[in-house]
Amino acid sequence: MPGEPSYTFRSKFVDPDFRNDPKTKVFCFVCQKDIRTAVPFMGHAVFGCIEVVHPEDRAVADRELAPADNVGLLPVGRDCAKRIGLEWFVRPEKEEAK
Ligand SMILES: [Zn+2]
Repeated sequence: MPGEPSYTFRSKFVDPDFRNDPKTKVFCFVCQKDIRTAVPFMGHAVFGCIEVVHPEDRAVADRELAPADNVGLLPVGRDCAKRIGLEWFVRPEKEEAK
């Protein structure tokens, strides 16, 4: 049936603000502000960074989403993570080169 695909992963609208212009490569994907300290949280961004996938459902999202919709893990600032809810984010992995 054509129309909206039905996804089974949990996601949440992050109410992004794209008016900021990041000065560095490391910035919060929600408010676009540069993160000048160690990255506090990572969120699995989807649909052009307007929603975040629940950490427990990341594998489901990877399976169900078209690559163009599946942005992947991006840095998130502490304030935005708190506003949206810390349960939607993960700590950055220190050992990514596994
Ligand atoms: Zn932010």
